[in-house]
Amino acid sequence: MAKLLKGAPVANAITDDLKRRSDELIHRSIAPRLAILRVGNREDDLSYERGAMKRCEKAGIAVTKFILPEECSGAQLSDTIQTINQDPSIHGCLMFRPLPDRELEERACMMLDPAKDVDCMTSRSLATVFSGKGPGFAPCTAQACMELLDYYGIDLTGRNVAVIGRSLVIGKPVSMMLQARNATVTMCHTRTAGLASVCRNAEILVAAAGKAGLVTSEFVRKEQIVIDVGINVNEEGKLCGDVDFDEVEPIVSAITPVPAGVGSVTTAVLAKHVIEAAERVFHRRAFQ
Ligand code: NAP
Repeated sequence: MAKLLKGAPVANAITDDLKRRSDELIHRSIAPRLAILRVGNREDDLSYERGAMKRCEKAGIAVTKFILPEECSGAQLSDTIQTINQDPSIHGCLMFRPLPDRELEERACMMLDPAKDVDCMTSRSLATVFSGKGPGFAPCTAQACMELLDYYGIDLTGRNVAVIGRSLVIGKPVSMMLQARNATVTMCHTRTAGLASVCRNAEILVAAAGKAGLVTSEFVRKEQIVIDVGINVNEEGKLCGDVDFDEVEPIVSAITPVPAGVGSVTTAVLAKHVIEAAERVFHRRAFQ
């Protein structure tokens, strides 16, 4: 039987440390605060919002919600982002993506103050992830994969890793972060030839395709570690990952469940970024 790499212990360990740090900040008159910017009422956004709010509460972070209608104008969205940028009591902003209007989304991403960009919306944060240098925060989910691997003591140096997915939210950033930790990474996508055999050759497989049941027994082998980032709803209406868990789990050595795997760590990473952003404000003030 494979070892289950559950997210809860990872998230709890991160949160315990954050609570101590937020208490310290509050003691120094800085109350860490996250702005959540949501356009519309998509069920997956609402579900992530509930998780993020619970996690922030445990970590000692206040949350202010900004909710706009699905058909909001560019002016409404930019006014809201300006409000967030100009409010010194807000240290980080999470905007749910994708927005219904992709062009509006791009403009919104460019407007956010990079110092408050806790989920890698701006080009400054992306540049940090890709260059390995700078103050930008990585996307929370990509960072959550790294936290999970570290918590379970999975060494990356010299390991062969296959990542399924090349989006800017997960596939590309996680590939860069794995490579920065000296893994040898193959980034796969819909045009990858022989996907199953590329994945089977890897020692670690990160699945971030958004396709329920994509990763079957053909994709894996003994001793492999499987990180399932996918969040999908299967034909029976149940939440599932990209990995066919029942088929794959008996073969590999370790695997993340869905739900209760990477997803549970993502909100803890979001909280961690907010605390770090607030600590930076404190240090700037202290040295002024
Ligand atoms: P996305 O933007 O749709 O990107 C999916 C990527 O997977 C694309 O690069 C696509 O390749 C590739 N892909 C799709 N089907 C494939 C297939 N059959 N074979 C090989 N490659 C395939 O999705 P995303 O935003 O990166 O999200 C990926 C998954 O992660 C989704 O299930 C999402 O719900 C989940 N997610 C989880 C969390 C969490 O906290 N756990 C957070 C955010 C998202 P092409 O580039 O060739 O199209």
